[in-house]
Amino acid sequence: MLGYHQHMKRLLWFRRDLRVDDNPLLCLGGEVLPIFIFDTIILGPLEKTDRRVGMLHAMVSDLREGLREIGLDLFIFHGDPVRIIKNLQERYGFDEVCASGDYDAYALERDREVSQLLPFNRLHDTYIFRPEEMLKTNGTPYLVFTPFYRAAKSRFSSEYLREYRSVPQTLLSCDAPLPSLKALGFEGEARQPERAEILLERFAPKLAAYKQMRDRLDLDATSHLSVALRFGTISIRAVLRWLAERRREGIDTDPFFRQLVFRDFYAHMLYHFPDLAWKNFRYGWGGKEDSEKHAAFCEGRTGVPVVDAGVRELLATGSMHNRARMVCASFYTKDLLLPWQWGERFFAARLNDYDAASNTLSWQWSAGTGVDPQPWFRIFNPWLQAKKFDPDALYVKRWVPELAALEPKQIHDESWLSSNDLPDYPRPVVMHKAAAEAALEYFKAHT
Ligand code: FAD
Repeated sequence: MLGYHQHMKRLLWFRRDLRVDDNPLLCLGGEVLPIFIFDTIILGPLEKTDRRVGMLHAMVSDLREGLREIGLDLFIFHGDPVRIIKNLQERYGFDEVCASGDYDAYALERDREVSQLLPFNRLHDTYIFRPEEMLKTNGTPYLVFTPFYRAAKSRFSSEYLREYRSVPQTLLSCDAPLPSLKALGFEGEARQPERAEILLERFAPKLAAYKQMRDRLDLDATSHLSVALRFGTISIRAVLRWLAERRREGIDTDPFFRQLVFRDFYAHMLYHFPDLAWKNFRYGWGGKEDSEKHAAFCEGRTGVPVVDAGVRELLATGSMHNRARMVCASFYTKDLLLPWQWGERFFAARLNDYDAASNTLSWQWSAGTGVDPQPWFRIFNPWLQAKKFDPDALYVKRWVPELAALEPKQIHDESWLSSNDLPDYPRPVVMHKAAAEAALEYFKAHT
């Protein structure tokens, strides 16, 4: 059996696992053709200046270097993956295509089409748990996070820390160099995001206080690992091994582990219910379409400082603090009563760490329509959130410089801001109490 496997001809398809270290794709042996595809179906709708394509380009280039160091290479294509794999299959006659699981609706459908061309060996890599292993005793998916987390904790063992080491394999050859960003149709520069190992080093002294500080908008208290986890430049197991070491040092690692399990939970949900990406899980409401309010939100000009700060952070950096994401999504779907799908698309177009599962399910959570949602009648007060998580208004002042000269108590005071004209900053587009009441009326009428 082993001999048979070692002589197999394999197409190694890198997608969400752009690394050499600890990668199960490199542990299969045989004759291999490692490839990456710049997928025109995904890239097509993006703006030509989308900074994520430059990031991806740099990550792919890095992966190719890493593969060359172990005697392999990376062949790079640009087009429709199904067509490209069909051509490669006609040319090489692979025994199988190997790739780690990718669980959004488009990825599942794409992989299904590819699996009609040749056997598809789906490897487990991106998440801690396989979706099939985290089911309730009756075999159905968990719909509530807390029991999912409890099950995750009891199931978790050193098995999930396994480190994969690459084995010798024979490289097949191909002529498919890395196209320039320009040839891919994009502008800007190929810029690698900060390496995960450096992020972990920087985060290590903050881990013990993660639970208390992670919600503070004005502090840098989180890991910033989401982009590396999204593209797999670090393996989830490497993060877990790092965490296990900190645990041995006596640090309470559970709060951070819990967030990683959240990532699994959302990915598993989308795997089981692909149409959650666009359809409410519960309740029939769709919000009220209003392009003007949407535009004010997307420009960071709602007149609600914490919301504008979050959006402007996103526009400037491609990232947004988790607490700000929660406040913004709540304000968008409840105070502004806009369709969550519009807000989700806005985030999707700009987040460097954009991930269909985490983004759509977080938006549904905020809108109160999702699996295990925030109850629809609980509406965040953005003013109180700002006071609590940005007490000195440092986060707001960083991203909304028009307010730099104001006192924190003025910045956090809705009635002061709505009754004073500021030269460059609008009055709040809605008053929270009235907007929340209107939202509740709307929800009640639609539940
Ligand atoms: P840390 O606090 O250091 O957490 C460590 C890791 O755990 C993160 O890198 C991430 O992989 C995971 N994680 C943490 N919190 C969550 C969470 N609530 N849900 C799922 N995974 C989590 N995360 C994305 O990766 N992509 C998205 O597109 C995305 N969209 C979001 C949209 C909204 C409306 C909200 C409320 C949250 C969204 N998140 C998303 C989750 C979260 O905001 C980010 O993962 C986090 O801010 C990334 O920063 P960090 O790496 O410093 O996180």
